[in-house]
Amino acid sequence: MIDLRTAALLPLLALSAPAAAAPITEAALARHIDVLASNAYEGRKPGTPGAVKAVTYIAGAFRNAGLVPGAADGSWYQTVAFVERMPVSTDLRIGDRHESEVVATGLNPRIRIVDAPVVFAGYGIVGEGRDDLNGVSLAGAIVLIRGGTPKGMAHPPRPAERVAALLDRGARAVLTITPAGAAWVDVASQVGRGSTMLATAKRPAVQGAISHAAFARLTPAAPALLAAADGAAFRPVTLARHMTMTVETQVRPFASWNVIGRRAGTAAQGKAVLFTGHWDHLGICRPAGAADRICNGAVDNASGIASLIETARQLGAGPKPVRDEVFIATTGEELGLLGMEAWAAAPTVPLTEIVAAINVDTVAIAPRGLPVAIVGRGLTRLDPIVDATARRLGRRVDDDLEANAFIDRQDGAVLVRRGVPAVMIGGSFSDLKRLQAFLGGAYHGPTDNPGHGVVLGGAAEDADLTVAVARVLVDPVAYPAP
Ligand SMILES: [Zn+2]
Repeated sequence: MIDLRTAALLPLLALSAPAAAAPITEAALARHIDVLASNAYEGRKPGTPGAVKAVTYIAGAFRNAGLVPGAADGSWYQTVAFVERMPVSTDLRIGDRHESEVVATGLNPRIRIVDAPVVFAGYGIVGEGRDDLNGVSLAGAIVLIRGGTPKGMAHPPRPAERVAALLDRGARAVLTITPAGAAWVDVASQVGRGSTMLATAKRPAVQGAISHAAFARLTPAAPALLAAADGAAFRPVTLARHMTMTVETQVRPFASWNVIGRRAGTAAQGKAVLFTGHWDHLGICRPAGAADRICNGAVDNASGIASLIETARQLGAGPKPVRDEVFIATTGEELGLLGMEAWAAAPTVPLTEIVAAINVDTVAIAPRGLPVAIVGRGLTRLDPIVDATARRLGRRVDDDLEANAFIDRQDGAVLVRRGVPAVMIGGSFSDLKRLQAFLGGAYHGPTDNPGHGVVLGGAAEDADLTVAVARVLVDPVAYPAP
């Protein structure tokens, strides 16, 4: 029953300016986290039933928040094809000698490379003013590289980029030599857990690791070669011995999905603002018999998905945007930002049309009242808008660059590399002690559960900030396209 005193005022209220929207609450975020990070979702690992539950839930929540499907086929789901490879056996022979300290996976279930030349290619780096391959062809070779970064190199290419360069020169196999101090059992068990790539990714026929000791058994020049790799004049060295390898691999292709929703803007110019967060996590992450086997990923990143959903709802409750709003819950972030890579390779909005992107990851660790930091500060045109909006909301601004240490650990990095202005904003990244405490504790373990260490005050406040910033970004007058 309605209060008549209030009812009498309703026609007047309808004529006044829209009231400030009710803030996003901790309870609203917790409702999504409690579902997505429940044991029923089994840690949301791509390729598992829990992942199907997660994307179904998110599509429903996007619909409920007023979005429409945003994938190219008119559905909520952009399919992302993955291939998981688990090593079964690696047989490496140098003449009659069998070398056991090597572990690798093959492109196909059984790969045999017979009597191939072996080339040591230093760090295997091409680019950043360096060419370890020096024009040398690696056609058909088993290529050995050392891990790590050459002395004095600030921005080394990522491992996948190094392998791609070796593949371009014709390498059949790439084996990374482990550091001198690394325990081989640890390396073997790490590689033994397998790896997952996008089905579209190129890789050599064989890829894996070989121990430092095995390299030393292969050539007496090993120490000199490893040291020479740091020199600017390094050239690949073909070793005296050939190798024969037989690699057996369990190859499992599977599909996963980016969940995409959108709200059309009033302008026909097609420009869009992107809101992203990853839904995937690590799944069942402890062996049979462990007390708690599920890495539930409540903070990482059910909290970000909760924020994404409530941001969508809040924006939908306000004025219609001029630019489009596109919401992407990505898969495969924990596998190396792969869902976002897949989206960027087949974007539902041309990358050149995206005027800004805000990613949300690992936001449920801070209380209200922390200053607003930007992951990506100094790299985009967004800083003054975020700072001014934060101050307008009565928040302090943390304007140092410390939070940029996390740039490469989140989906926004994929967009930044392609020239799209992408940031993460909020209080979680201004108190790095607090963030490090989470990373050193529940992070990526079975205790990242709903209710356990999940702090939602800051996440709610940051979601309100995201909404306020978004209202500026979707307005071409307030934020003109470059
Ligand atoms: Zn994570």
